[in-house]
Amino acid sequence: MLTDEYVKRVYAQVEQRDGDQPEFLQAVREVLESLEPVVAKHPEYEKAGVLERLVEPERVVKFRVAWTDDEGNVQVNRGYRVQFNSAIGPYKGGLRFHPSVNEGVIKFLGFEQILKNSLTSLPMGGGKGGSDFDPKGKSDAEVMRFCQAFMTELCRHIGQFTDVPAGDINVGGREIGYLFGQYKRIRDEYSGVLTGKGLEFGGSLARTEATGYGLCYYTAEALRVLKNDSFKGKTVAISGSGNVAIFATEKAQALGAKVVTASDSNGYIYDPNGIQLDVVKDIKLGHRGRIKEYAERVPGSEYHEGCKGVWTVPCDIALPCATQNEIDEESAKTLVANGCTVVCEGANMPSTPEAIAVYQANNVLYGPAKAANAGGVAVSGLEMSQNSYRLSWSFEEVDDKLKSIMENIVASSLAAAKEYGHEGDLMLGANAAGFVKVANAMVAQGV
Ligand code: GLU
Repeated sequence: MLTDEYVKRVYAQVEQRDGDQPEFLQAVREVLESLEPVVAKHPEYEKAGVLERLVEPERVVKFRVAWTDDEGNVQVNRGYRVQFNSAIGPYKGGLRFHPSVNEGVIKFLGFEQILKNSLTSLPMGGGKGGSDFDPKGKSDAEVMRFCQAFMTELCRHIGQFTDVPAGDINVGGREIGYLFGQYKRIRDEYSGVLTGKGLEFGGSLARTEATGYGLCYYTAEALRVLKNDSFKGKTVAISGSGNVAIFATEKAQALGAKVVTASDSNGYIYDPNGIQLDVVKDIKLGHRGRIKEYAERVPGSEYHEGCKGVWTVPCDIALPCATQNEIDEESAKTLVANGCTVVCEGANMPSTPEAIAVYQANNVLYGPAKAANAGGVAVSGLEMSQNSYRLSWSFEEVDDKLKSIMENIVASSLAAAKEYGHEGDLMLGANAAGFVKVANAMVAQGV
């Protein structure tokens, strides 16, 4: 419930303007609720209109993407780039290609990115982009032509010092390569305008692994500090089978856990003996197949239709790594009833507000996405640093930096939670810690 008058006024304004964007409203409401004790303590934020400005993107770019499919038909998709907040650095955030993409989805992601990027302690503002293009079933040549058409328009809005996109759902190394090639062709500039690049052309070691590894570093640190516990011997349920899920599985296994699930948009697999990651990698990274294939290849494992079922599998730790609102109230209750005591989020906003309420009522250690999955963008920030230096660091060097950034996020979240009277609350702490830095910069830079 919102109680602070200033916060209520700002939320009412967002509701009035953006009432047709449910994901954006959801993200804003959660953050504003957390910020009540912060703005109460800092009247200067209200005076400078910080919240009113924070919830309104600096710029929203919406554009047509026309491309030709393999049959010679002209296809038209819609492209977006939301440049949300540049108080602490150039806009930074991924590109998502998915049929569910619309302005509200990109705005929720861009809004989350502001505080996430701030939490990394690196100088990056918040942005996000994407398209309703569905790469499922498209040929490699079609994906290339789409990426080229998308960048032909996007290139006029981005740059290494202004806005630096990266990947998100369905945008990985292949797509970043095509996008980078087109940017270079048009602008005649070889720069770090995108992150997640191939290692041969300015990419960073450990960027591919970063979100999943970072999620586990964050979870391990939160477990250590708050419960004097670890991943060792734990059963872990992970949703998704993309980049985040794969490398979260890899690191959780390395830290001594047994990961028993993986999923895609069709269904999930349960392997009571522990997921064989080389098989998942071969299916998903090797030939972009469906997760169903796993059960055909690994005896003793099961495939079930419907991705939501993944949360009915008993586990100690749940790491949602698929997409927004994948855990609803019912799934959260099932998780808790089956003994789950830790939920840390690899996807962006995977838990509905009702699911979060279930975690809170049941003392679940809850690591919110903007903190727990910040490892991806953190290593993107390190890629930008390496591009500026014109050198590259070793895997170990980047991984060490990632680990300390994630541990720092736990520490700064807990410090902020304590400062604002909610000791141990990683959600309020992440929102508060991320916000204060951005808010101070906005006050200092004037209206
Ligand atoms: N898409 C990722 C995220 O949600 C990474 C963004 C980036 O590296 O810029 O944070």
